Amino acid sequence: MGAMILDGKPVAATAKAEVASEIKKMSKPPGLATVLVGDDPASHTYVRGKRRDAEEVGMVSIHHQLPASVSQRAIEDLIDELNFDVAVDGILVQLPLPARLNSQAVVERLDPAKDADGLHPVNLGKIILDLPGPRPCTPSGVIRILEHYRIEVAGKRTVVVGRSFLVGRPLALLLSAKGVDATVTIAHSRTPNLASVTREADIVVAAAGVPGLIRAEHIHPGATVIDVGITRVGDHLVGDVDFSDVVAVAGAITPVPGGVGPMTRAMLLANTLALAQNFRSGA
Ligand code: NAD
Repeated sequence: MGAMILDGKPVAATAKAEVASEIKKMSKPPGLATVLVGDDPASHTYVRGKRRDAEEVGMVSIHHQLPASVSQRAIEDLIDELNFDVAVDGILVQLPLPARLNSQAVVERLDPAKDADGLHPVNLGKIILDLPGPRPCTPSGVIRILEHYRIEVAGKRTVVVGRSFLVGRPLALLLSAKGVDATVTIAHSRTPNLASVTREADIVVAAAGVPGLIRAEHIHPGATVIDVGITRVGDHLVGDVDFSDVVAVAGAITPVPGGVGPMTRAMLLANTLALAQNFRSGA
């Protein structure tokens, strides 16, 4: 009872408005190329949303739809083309690709300077080195939501549940970076007695993809709980946190949907703008 709800929608709207106002000052709007392979309905919905977001803030959206049967060679040739296209500032390849294709090779084919999702090894490496570059969208969305609601992070014990290259690991690095200064533990599927680890935390970030994994017994009273998980159950989207249970003990909590999801979308736009500006002023 009484947990602050960390609504991502107004934070995402503010971030989008900032991007739109920067674009108004530019002589040429940034171009975001999206690449979608096959006809997975969820991927189509995500890409449609990302294109609409891009257009709303004044970017040029350039879409490439490829059949599920596309060859590795053809998709890499398209990436080469986009890498050299001066109208394209950011490239987003919607993952997952069909299992037959080598996704990692496709991501590595991207020019790191056009990597809108921040997932190229060069850009992931820049996080370790604390160098400016596009950051993976979900981790930077989590940081932004914590900043917006003035959740104190410096010196706080923070547990990130999940160690994927997309969310858990980069987020743990960003939270422990100089200037953010959290004390971070990464928990994962092999962590014994997860509740004993998360209960020590001032901030718990759940990014496991396991609905209802985090319950009240996992949370220290008053802690902040960030739910990154999104799993489709029937026609509902559910998080990793049992919201109705945890809201009673947490000090602050993100909802699903409407928490981290909108932030992820907004951060893609922020990355694309920064790529168009060549990270001149740092990121
Ligand atoms: P992933 O499957 O690559 O990684 C999941 C991680 O969770 C693994 O490192 C695993 O060790 C850990 N894990 C699994 N079961 C666990 C358990 N029982 N206890 C502790 N740790 C456990 O997934 P991902 O790509 O990192 O995504 C995680 C979740 O976040 C998914 O639900 C995904 O849909 C969601 N997601 C949401 C957004 C967003 O915008 N909100 C963006 C990306 C991913």
